[in-house]
Amino acid sequence: MPMPPYPVMCTAPGCPRPAAFKVAARWSDGQTDELKTYALACPECLPRLFAAAGAKRAACRLAPGEVLDAPGVYELSRGDRDKVLKRRPDLGVGG
Ligand SMILES: [Zn+2]
Repeated sequence: MPMPPYPVMCTAPGCPRPAAFKVAARWSDGQTDELKTYALACPECLPRLFAAAGAKRAACRLAPGEVLDAPGVYELSRGDRDKVLKRRPDLGVGG
């Protein structure tokens, strides 16, 4: 999904800053493979949103055959598609 042509805002409640990172996990059912987005985060909210994504992922029930990777942090750059987003393992805690 291409990025919208306006600034993407941080998804933390009440946060007015633009998002710089995407918290997402790769999901697959064996046939389709997609990046499941949990949150869009500014640098300040990233640790909190990343922790929340981990909790959501832990609560997620998967059907047989489904695979959901641990959430990771991706750089958000306008115009890029999910597949070319650069993963930033240095910003994640665990995963
Ligand atoms: Zn924020």
